[in-house]
Amino acid sequence: MDKQLNITPKADWLLKHKRPIIISGPCSAETEDQVMNTALKLAKLGKVDYLRAGIWKPRTRPNAFEGVGIEALPWLVNAGKETNIPVTTEVANAAHVEAALKAGIDMLWIGARTTVNPFSVQEIADAIKGVDIPVMVKNPLNPDLQLWIGAMERINQAGITKLGAIHRGFSSFEKTVYRNIPQWNFPIELKRMFPDLPIICDPSHIGGNRDLIGMISQKALDLDFDGLMIESHPTPDAAWSDAKQQVTPLALKEIINDLIVRNISTEDKNFIDHLSELRDRIDDLDEEIIQKLANRMKIAIEIGSYKKNNDVTILQVNRWNEIVKQRKQLANAMGLSDRFISKFLKIIHEESIQNQTKVMNS
Ligand code: PEP
Ligand code: MN
Repeated sequence: MDKQLNITPKADWLLKHKRPIIISGPCSAETEDQVMNTALKLAKLGKVDYLRAGIWKPRTRPNAFEGVGIEALPWLVNAGKETNIPVTTEVANAAHVEAALKAGIDMLWIGARTTVNPFSVQEIADAIKGVDIPVMVKNPLNPDLQLWIGAMERINQAGITKLGAIHRGFSSFEKTVYRNIPQWNFPIELKRMFPDLPIICDPSHIGGNRDLIGMISQKALDLDFDGLMIESHPTPDAAWSDAKQQVTPLALKEIINDLIVRNISTEDKNFIDHLSELRDRIDDLDEEIIQKLANRMKIAIEIGSYKKNNDVTILQVNRWNEIVKQRKQLANAMGLSDRFISKFLKIIHEESIQNQTKVMNS
């Protein structure tokens, strides 16, 4: 199925005045005072475009703090009015949408635990129908691009054209330095498919640790993300949820000041000329690589029929191990990493085996 989103181009709304945009505020609204205090401190920085706070918190385990609920909505709305900054919160069902719209929330987002469930997303889409409000959709917990796109399509089909995606990383059984592994190829692919769709990075939930936020944010900007959502709290260590990953407004200021925002392009003629020369060389090399891969595959197919005629198995483990060892040495000597060459050989080998299997069964 062709993926189509009928959206308002990001340059016409979210990025009208600034790139990257910054969304910040506490993981959870805890008290009226905490929300207002955070908002006032963030407003003083002059860098925050949206105030965030979780009103309803979908928690992994029961008995954790599950948010104050509807009572906290006016706290966030008032903090927005006081600071003149639009506000955003997470909605997970129709009742949340209704309450948030009634309270005057300016933008909604759908959390990772909701994006995984098409029934919930559809319920939200139905509740939003006919309302002109921006909606950001976080990636689902599991690394499934179709599920992420599907959730955005549901919201889009309800008539929402100010749509955005938030990349917050993916759950993983594997223990890594991250709370949620970034798998940057997902947002990169989304960008390729939908160039007009804004993509915001949430380094707080990717990192799970405040020390990683600067590094992840810079990486996101270097990949041309459109903004950052960073959790902040006046006293992060005392936060009722996600304490380790929240930063003070002052720390947020330092993180933002340290970021290098590179240009997407430039008018400089020398730069453009030189870049286009380099790109021509890349184009030539890609052509050569594809030609060579096709030749290689032809020979693999020939080997397949030779094996078939001589009743020999497709997989020859010793030969394969030898290839991997030899090619790695060669690649390393030429400055290519083990990780890269291993992946590259693996997909070539898989394709060869598949082609040889076809020959064998023909
Ligand atoms: C949050 O933003 O506080 C949150 C719960 O995020 P996620 O849905 O990414 O886990
Ligand atoms: Mn959080």
